[in-house]
Amino acid sequence: MPPLTRPLLEKQIELLPRKATLAAETDVLVVGGGPAGFGAALGAANAGAEAILVERYGFFGGNATAALVTILMSYHSENHRAESTGENTLLPTDHGRGEPIAAGVLSHFVQRLVKAGGAIAPSLRTGYTVPFDPEVFKYVMMEMLDEAGVKFLLHSMASGVLGESAPEGVIFETKSGPLVIKARCIVDCTGDGDIAAQAGAPFRLGRADGRVQPVTLMFRMGEFEKAAFAAYVKEHPDQWRGVHGLWDLICRATEAGELDLPREDLLFFATPHPREISVNSSRVVKVRGTDVWDLTDAEFHSRRQVRQIETFLRRYVPGFENSYLIQSGVQVGVRETRRIAGGYELTAEDVLEARKFDDVIARCAYPMDIHNPTGKGTVLQHLPRGEAFDIPLRCLIPQDVEHLLVAGRCISGTHEAMASYRIMPTAIGTGQAAGVCAALAARHKISPRRIEAKDVQRELLRQGANLRGIRV
Ligand SMILES: Cc1cc2nc3c(=O)[nH]c(=O)nc-3n(C[C@H](O)[C@H](O)[C@H](O)COP(=O)(O)OP(=O)(O)OC[C@H]3O[C@@H](n4cnc5c(N)ncnc54)[C@H](O)[C@@H]3O)c2cc1C
Repeated sequence: MPPLTRPLLEKQIELLPRKATLAAETDVLVVGGGPAGFGAALGAANAGAEAILVERYGFFGGNATAALVTILMSYHSENHRAESTGENTLLPTDHGRGEPIAAGVLSHFVQRLVKAGGAIAPSLRTGYTVPFDPEVFKYVMMEMLDEAGVKFLLHSMASGVLGESAPEGVIFETKSGPLVIKARCIVDCTGDGDIAAQAGAPFRLGRADGRVQPVTLMFRMGEFEKAAFAAYVKEHPDQWRGVHGLWDLICRATEAGELDLPREDLLFFATPHPREISVNSSRVVKVRGTDVWDLTDAEFHSRRQVRQIETFLRRYVPGFENSYLIQSGVQVGVRETRRIAGGYELTAEDVLEARKFDDVIARCAYPMDIHNPTGKGTVLQHLPRGEAFDIPLRCLIPQDVEHLLVAGRCISGTHEAMASYRIMPTAIGTGQAAGVCAALAARHKISPRRIEAKDVQRELLRQGANLRGIRV
């Protein structure tokens, strides 16, 4: 049965006006409980605001848990590198000791994850990434939110705002009917900039031709035998580059009609469990992650790819003979959708030249990692060694809309710059800053646009953020 396709002629139906229950009124409302929303809710609560966090699923984590992106990319500067790990790491690389360039909520969270037995601490062995267990991730996020006094509502999908250009609240669709939550300040952490777009903020989509990075349905394989896989890699050094490869085996399976993939290689994640591996290898291009027809089609095609890949692994790849598919994402992982136009647009030059800004509120050292929007290949461009770039507060403040901030992957930047700051540690960092700014705006009853960057920085430093030693 094929997926339902977009109607050729769009026929509009008038809906009846309706009422919604006023569920709450608060200082700061954070919409979206992914890495950015987690950072924002804690940033706001720790700054003394009453904070509510609303999420459409029944758990927190966003891509980390819903899409099984189970590794925090490095938040350390790169001092030596043999080969980039890109989004993944399986085997040790010789990345040298980097300096952590981010802290605050992120470092407390990583410590808690490690303590709970749900993550491997960043070190040379992990290429300074943090592989984690998604179930522990969900649990620790919820515990930390609870401890900070953040009130949260799950199973609630934001569908609109009350009042354009200066929204006073957000409408949520729930099993209990429509709800409204009013707030002095709102932080959009939906990844897609849903709230900002609803409120009329201008946004950009994709590169110059409008194409965005592909989506990927990630999955976990159990009963993986690392020693057997490592022996194969040792015998075939041209077939595996740190984290990805298996080109010859893929060619054989493709010629045998068993594999038909848009990617040219397979890409694995290490996990905290020695007999488990996470696979980041399906790819569907030309998908708009805010379009239900494209998303449905993408789930259909990527699930077929996942089936092919798991069968291929068992049949062709040493170490996978007895492996099995434990779990795939609740949904495809979406890398790129709306980028809300803000007071400043971060560029590729800002990233690659590791530029600094007076209104820095977060930092990132991850390369620009662009998965080809139209087919095979992935391009990585690195920052100068030992360097990180600043993210200015202006990137979180949308043009033309008051009482609203954005955080995470939908902040203001170009397609290329976003390919760097989209990683989860940076999303937690921009989230924390947006939460702090929203708390100050709510306290002073003004729009976040009027909050001084140095006041946000002062509170971020009090909360333990790393802003490269600036003094305010
Ligand atoms: C396949 C893939 C691999 C990646 N690999 C890595 C990696 O190895 N390491 C790394 O650090 N990063 C990686 N990334 C990037 C990273 O996962 C994302 O960019 C990051 O999760 C963005 O965080 P966010 O909080 O902005 O958005 P998201 O993680 O997308 O979270 C958004 C949250 O908002 C909720 N939401 C959305 N819309 C609504 C709504 N209307 N109402 C209510 N709730 C809503 C969602 O359910 C979700 O919980 C990868 C991404 C993908 C797709």
